[in-house]
Amino acid sequence: MRVAVVGAGWGGMAAAVALTQAGHHVTVMEAARTLGGRARALHTVDAAGQPLVLDNGQHILIGAYTETLRLMRTVGVDVPSAMLRLPLTLTYADRSGLELPDLPPPWDALVGVARARGWSWTDKVALLRTCASWQLKGFRCDARWSVAQLCERLPQRLLQEFIEPLCVSALNTPAHEASAEVFLRVLRDSLFSGRGGSNLLLPRTDLGTLFPDTAAQWLQARGAALHSGQRVAGLARTPDGWDVDGTHFDSVVLATHSTEAARLVQAAHGSLSHTEQGEATEWIHVTQALRFTSIGTVYAQASATSLPNGSGHTEESRHTLNQAMLALHPGPEQPAQFVFDRGHLGGAAGLLAFVVSVSEQDRATLEDQVVRQAQEQLGLKTLRPLQSVVEKRATFACTPGLRRPGNRVLSGLWAAGDYTEGPYPATLEGAIRSGLHAAQQITGLRH
Ligand SMILES: Cc1cc2nc3c(=O)[nH]c(=O)nc-3n(C[C@H](O)[C@H](O)[C@H](O)COP(=O)(O)OP(=O)(O)OC[C@H]3O[C@@H](n4cnc5c(N)ncnc54)[C@H](O)[C@@H]3O)c2cc1C
Repeated sequence: MRVAVVGAGWGGMAAAVALTQAGHHVTVMEAARTLGGRARALHTVDAAGQPLVLDNGQHILIGAYTETLRLMRTVGVDVPSAMLRLPLTLTYADRSGLELPDLPPPWDALVGVARARGWSWTDKVALLRTCASWQLKGFRCDARWSVAQLCERLPQRLLQEFIEPLCVSALNTPAHEASAEVFLRVLRDSLFSGRGGSNLLLPRTDLGTLFPDTAAQWLQARGAALHSGQRVAGLARTPDGWDVDGTHFDSVVLATHSTEAARLVQAAHGSLSHTEQGEATEWIHVTQALRFTSIGTVYAQASATSLPNGSGHTEESRHTLNQAMLALHPGPEQPAQFVFDRGHLGGAAGLLAFVVSVSEQDRATLEDQVVRQAQEQLGLKTLRPLQSVVEKRATFACTPGLRRPGNRVLSGLWAAGDYTEGPYPATLEGAIRSGLHAAQQITGLRH
């Protein structure tokens, strides 16, 4: 079959790889010049005006992202060298917090909680007891509950310093608004999917190299066509398939952001039968009801005087923080929840990435506040903002009872993306699984 994939984010590239493996003729059309969508490389310059490759946002993967890791290997990514693998760690600059040891579950969680620094024994017992009760109930709960309701019996300190950052990093939605059902599913799949499932995987390459650009080379080597800088304007139903901007395909995968997918389905309206118009309207209705939360990333350069041992060239002196990732205490005018030391991840010494989930400030205010927060919480005297990116629609708001649209839009028209129906919140793994599922449906229908 001739299949069009509209959008070269991680979901679209997953669909394109799986369709090519199944023997279809694939054409990928991407509006931007850079592949990767919401997880892409960002080409900029450093403080000295030298070229610098960053990402549109700092991303974390986890060991339980099985389909993402499998697909990376398929296209030739050397996963162990492309990402730093760390045991699940949620610690602050004063070293308080949780750090799981490298043990099989449930021993990693048991020993990690028992050893957590800065938590009282009452906190630790309360957390272990709560986790045990979640496990006994099969990690299921009332679909209407928020994470705050699920955890209301936990001590305040754990709520603030453990549950809230965990929830924001996994669902990008504050605990009082986030779906408890999805939160528990993520916990189950990461903590109990087997050894290493909860490990954090931090990219050591830019996000383009990590998957979309490498996948593009793999696709092109196998005869797939890839057009970047080509925004698809419209779709139309034909008797035997679909026209995409006037070119005929047997099937189409819409792998754009949800709002753009809804616009494209709407654009096809006039070419649809009466029955299909009804189906399309329903799909558009569910898709347009999704709401979004933002993520801001502030990249800042610590000056040589802030760095341990000055700006020397030894491996240790590349590190500004004692670990690759630290949690921060957010508060009024202290917007960041996490900081990443890119010096630990193959980046320049002193290059830090501050992550602000649900970011609402303008760029200048955000940078000022982050610099002051870093001075107060990390003791960094001189920090110069380099580049900030605010993605207004970074993820859909993962709220209780949320209805998500299915992969199938109409016969021969499929949607792929982190927002389609599936077990996970808006994540790389969610996008990849959605792309693979769309490809499987197309391939399955053929045979
Ligand atoms: C700052 C930030 C931090 C994040 N952190 C994490 C994290 O730590 N871990 C994690 O797992 N997830 C994280 N996410 C979420 C993750 O990036 C997304 O879930 C994932 O990238 C979504 O991929 P997608 O393929 O569904 O959609 P997208 O990435 O949105 O891809 C859609 C593509 O379609 C293209 N397109 C749109 N319209 C058209 C058109 N008309 N014609 C052709 N092409 C079109 C777009 O240019 C884009 O390339 C983060 C997201 C952001 C923004």
